[in-house]
Amino acid sequence: MRGLNTRCLHLEESEGTTEHYGALSYPIYQSATYAHEAVGKSTGFDYSRLQNPTRQRLEQVVCTLEGGTDAFALSSGMAAISLLTEIFEPGDHIVAEADLYGGSIRLFENVSKKNGLEFTTLNCSQDDIEKAVKENTKAIYIETPTNPMMNVSDIEKISAIAKKHSLILIVDNTFLSPYFQNPLALGADVVVHSGTKFLGGHNDTIAGFLVTNNEKIQEKLRFLIKTTGAGLSPFDSWLMLRGIKTLGLRMERAQENALCLAEWLKKQSVVKKVYYPGLPEHPGYDIMKKQARGFGSMITFDVETKEQALKILEGVKMIKFAESLGGTETLITYPTTQTHADVPEEVRLKNGITDRTLRVSVGIEDKEDLIEELNKVFGGL
Ligand SMILES: *Cc1c(COP(=O)(O)O)cnc(C)c1O
Repeated sequence: MRGLNTRCLHLEESEGTTEHYGALSYPIYQSATYAHEAVGKSTGFDYSRLQNPTRQRLEQVVCTLEGGTDAFALSSGMAAISLLTEIFEPGDHIVAEADLYGGSIRLFENVSKKNGLEFTTLNCSQDDIEKAVKENTKAIYIETPTNPMMNVSDIEKISAIAKKHSLILIVDNTFLSPYFQNPLALGADVVVHSGTKFLGGHNDTIAGFLVTNNEKIQEKLRFLIKTTGAGLSPFDSWLMLRGIKTLGLRMERAQENALCLAEWLKKQSVVKKVYYPGLPEHPGYDIMKKQARGFGSMITFDVETKEQALKILEGVKMIKFAESLGGTETLITYPTTQTHADVPEEVRLKNGITDRTLRVSVGIEDKEDLIEELNKVFGGL
């Protein structure tokens, strides 16, 4: 198979033709519906809720990046996860990582439970997952590294448990993107992405993806995307295609900056702890080395006091105090009031998210400028 950088740019199956007048940028098919020659004759496209050429192109690209058999482009990461929960029945039980993205926790707690799904949450990097498996368990849902505490769990090991009990293993791969990690190759059945983050990569588009290599799940998802209607729009699909072209360059550059920043943060007296899986002392370092091709560019750190945390958020200028991650610009987030505000305080604290915890999504600026800015802010604490 071709390398990942090539796959971000070229789709083998459509090469050797000059379809679309040879346009290098895939056209935006801004059409809701498609004309037919006769009854029973279709171009393959009938109505854009079901399928759209630009969206299809994007799905094909993401599918090759994750090594799946089918991919689905949705209007947001949460739309993707919501759609996925529809493959389950009331009464089904899911074992889920406790330190998930806050929106996923909110969905499971407030919507999925109402619809009859049951959850057991645990720290998948430490706890005995198999013990949580029950008669009605249907799936294991993990993130690695987790958002925001950067816990790393062993996908292959968890997939062995899933296979033993005939469970579906779902991995939210947002934090590393397909450039650094491919969960399907490690035994997962479904990969989730918030395309808003590294895949889109420019802090300008909301999107989500599901990728699978399981035919049954694929069929269910095709039916569901057509039925529930949260497929990504043609223009946003085009923005994603454009963002993905530079995925590798951005991931490498952001990672280089992140490693440098993590080392720098470690040396600051106000910083109590740095959570970055690219530091050899991180408990997940060896697993990362084994299952991923990089460590990503997300760093979480604790300062000494809440006041310091707030001062940092208010003091940054070039670095933006904003939620989201994975874009070209460096962002700093306060999980307590932003990404994880709807997670009950006791759950937050149990996961290690305190009012002294900050999360940085390192961008592709010059690292000297990032450090200079933080140095100035930290100097004023
Ligand atoms: C942002 C995010 C989501 C949700 O994606 P949206 O595109 O914001 O809906 C899901 N999982 C993770 C890990 C995320 O960071």
